[in-house]
Order: sequence, then C-alpha cells, then structure tokens
Amino acid sequence: MSGRISFFAQVNRNFDKAAAFTGLGRDLLRQIKQCNCVYQVVFPLKRDDGSIEVIRAYRAEHSQHKLPTKGGIRYAPNVNEDEVKALSALMTYKCAVVDVPFGGAKGGIKINPWKYSEAELERVTRRYTVELIRKNFIGPGIDVPAPDFGSGAREMSWIADTYMMMSTGELDAMGCVTGKPVAQGGIRGRTEATGLGVFYGIREACSQPEDMKQIGLDPGMEGKRVVVQGLGNVGYHAARFIQDAGGVLVGFAEYEGAIYSYKGLDLEAVMNHRKETGSILDFPGAKNLPNSSDALELDCDILIPAALENQIHSENAPRIKAKVIAEAANGPVTSDASELLKERGVLVIPDNFLNAGGVIVSYFEWIKNLSHVRFGRMGRRFDQQAYQRLLKGVEQATNHSFSEAEYTELARGADELDLVRSGLEDTMVTAYHSIREIKLQKGEKADLRTAAFVDAITKVALCYQELGIFP
Ligand code: GLU
Repeated sequence: MSGRISFFAQVNRNFDKAAAFTGLGRDLLRQIKQCNCVYQVVFPLKRDDGSIEVIRAYRAEHSQHKLPTKGGIRYAPNVNEDEVKALSALMTYKCAVVDVPFGGAKGGIKINPWKYSEAELERVTRRYTVELIRKNFIGPGIDVPAPDFGSGAREMSWIADTYMMMSTGELDAMGCVTGKPVAQGGIRGRTEATGLGVFYGIREACSQPEDMKQIGLDPGMEGKRVVVQGLGNVGYHAARFIQDAGGVLVGFAEYEGAIYSYKGLDLEAVMNHRKETGSILDFPGAKNLPNSSDALELDCDILIPAALENQIHSENAPRIKAKVIAEAANGPVTSDASELLKERGVLVIPDNFLNAGGVIVSYFEWIKNLSHVRFGRMGRRFDQQAYQRLLKGVEQATNHSFSEAEYTELARGADELDLVRSGLEDTMVTAYHSIREIKLQKGEKADLRTAAFVDAITKVALCYQELGIFP
C-alpha cells in the first residue's frame, strides 16, 4: 500500500501528471500547488465528568485565488496537518472543475465525535469557531466551513450562532458557514447534495455508449450491480438514488464488516437492520464477508468508495473486479492504484469532480444567505399562473380538458428544492462533459482524473495570470 506517500504528496503527484499537459510555467504551477495557510490550534475541553482534555484542531486554506475559501470540517481521531492540506487542495481543484467561485480550504478537529456527548461537542465546536474568528480564518468573504466526515447540520448551526454572536450587525453573517439546518439559514437539498451529485456523475458517465462499450457494459443505470463502501451521508444517499434509478445494490461495507447478495439488497431494509442490531452483518439473505475491505474486491459493475482516503492502493488494486470506480469519498484511490487501474482499463470517475455536489449546493446556500431571499420566492407563483394560462389556451384550442391532477403537475412553479436539484444536475452534467472532452483531447495518456486536474489547473492559473503576477 502506498501509505508511505503522504496524502498531500499523492494529490500533488496527480497535479504534476496533469501539469505536464498544461504548458504553464514552473513558478506559476509551484504557487498553485502550495497550501497557502495552515492554522493549528490547541485548546482545553472540560468533559462532562469535570476532567480536562486537550483538543488539537486545524484549518488549512489552500488557495485564495477566489474568495471566500471553502471546505468542510472533519471530526475524526486521525485528523492531521497533512490530511487537511491535501483535502484543502482537493477543494481548490474540485471548485474549479465545477465552476464554483471559491478557493479551497478544509478544517479538522482531532476527536472521535461518537465518544463525546452533545454538550461536549458543542463546547468543542464553539471554541474552535472562536479560535477561527480570532485568526481571521472564518467569515462570509474569508473562509466558509461546511460539514464533512463526522460533522453535520447541528455542528454548522453552532458555528453560525457563535459567529453571529461575535459579529453584531454584520448583515451577511449567516453566510459564514454552509450546511446549516433549513430553519437557520440552510437550503433545502443540502443534506443529500453530495450523494445526489455522485449519482448524477455516475449516471452521466454510464450514459456514454462509446465509453461503456470500451469497458464491456451497456449504457444506463438499469441493472448495474453496485457495491458501496460507507453508508454515511454520502454513501447512503448515493445508494438511494442509484436504487431508485434501477441500479442493483449487491454489496455494502461498513466498519463492522461487509455483506453481499448477488440478487441485490434493499437499502432501507439494510439501514433498518443496522439500526435494530447495531450492524449490517447477518442481514437476512446476504452473505457476511469477514473483512470489511473484502467488499472492494467483489464482483460488480460499479464500486463506490464513500468512506475515507487510501482505500484502494497498489496492493488491492489488481484484485478489484469493478469496471467503474466512482470516488464518492475524497482520495479513496491512491495515485499508484490509479495508474494500475488505468492500465487495466477501469474507468475511475475522480473525486475532484464526482463528490462536488456538496460544495455546489453550499454555493447555492451561500448565495441565498447573501441575497437574503429563498430561491423560487419571487417567481414560483408567477410561473404557475403563466403555465395555467398556457394550459387553458391548449384546452380551448384542442377541446381537451386537463384533470385537476394534471393541472397541479403541469402548472407547477419551481420551488427551492426544484431549483437546487436542477442547478446541481446541470452543474454535474456540464462539468462531466468538459472533463471528458479534455480527456479525449489529451489522448491515451490522460485519464479522467488527469483531465479534471488539467481543467482545474488551467482555470486557477487564469486567475493568477489576470492578477498580473504571472504573465
Ligand atoms: N465537505 C464537503 C466536501 O468535501 C463539502 C464542502 C463544502 O460544502 O464547502 O466537498
């Protein structure tokens, strides 16, 4: 396993591979690659039992070529400086690929959130926020955190509340963080955004007849056999949308082990089983796999690693049977493994495109906060009435009457969720075709990851060039 090469070094290897295709100058490339700022802070936490624990936390801002910088906060015991730097770099490239006008950032709190009470997590989160404020590492125009592994809407609401307490009268204060609960400045559709984006990305990749032919698959989602590693927010929602589109979920992997059934597993039934028994194992009709990571090597069409980085490495890559690997997590396939898989003709849909759904909808939330109005509020009823007039015209011209149900469906004006989903779908589909086009232009040597990096590097470079520093 290429664990010896640090995560950030792996991201930079992928960067270097792509940089060679860009023709950009060495100095400019060196500047883009660096992580511009890293803030490390240590603070005490008073536990509920009165004892004191020392908490270490980070915020890395990779690139300020566009502001604010953007990226989630990870709550996990293995958080470290290299990881947040790597993840912040991936945020820069991801935002560039999907044309979301942010620089990249990432935060991390070195803590196992499942071992702390809600009150303790609230104290940690509020303290972390204050530390960020003190160093100017947060603000609607500076750096805007979001959920990541181990955090969610609850943590984001504590961040927003802490920030707002300390920024009296700042009109745009709500835009200091995204992924908030809807009642607290959040946006509908943010929770499932990353998983839905993963689905849109896979669906688009699988609908290209020539690409599917090359790997021996039929176009379309119907009947595709899918294995998902990680049933957290991203994996669960991606699996749900895939199942709804006719994909067959044949395997799941979680901490406690993995399960497999060639006939397919019903997602909700597996989730309920896990809730009841505390484990996905022993699900009726499924086979248990001794090691969770064995699920990665199952016979399937699409493998979705939706957990953490470094899951598919040079050691297990030769045994992967999937024809498509969809990187729902950040960095699940190491750079060495990427090479091996490319040689074997496996289609890897890269993280820096595929899991961008979260930040895309975060962008919509941030715009909503800055504009202080819900999407659809101004136009929904007007559109509905215009469609109704149109339907009446059709009725008069054709002598056909629409039913009440048809009226409701056909004359519906778009609400916030409709607009968020349509914006997300359009962004994912457009970005997929941009990187696919670059891949085709660059020929055999470039895979989709390299193409996405070429796209990102070129866009970031243009910003620097426009500043006039790098002609
Ligand atoms: N943590 C998510 C990611 O890795 C979302 C980031 C955001 O919304 O800013 O893309």
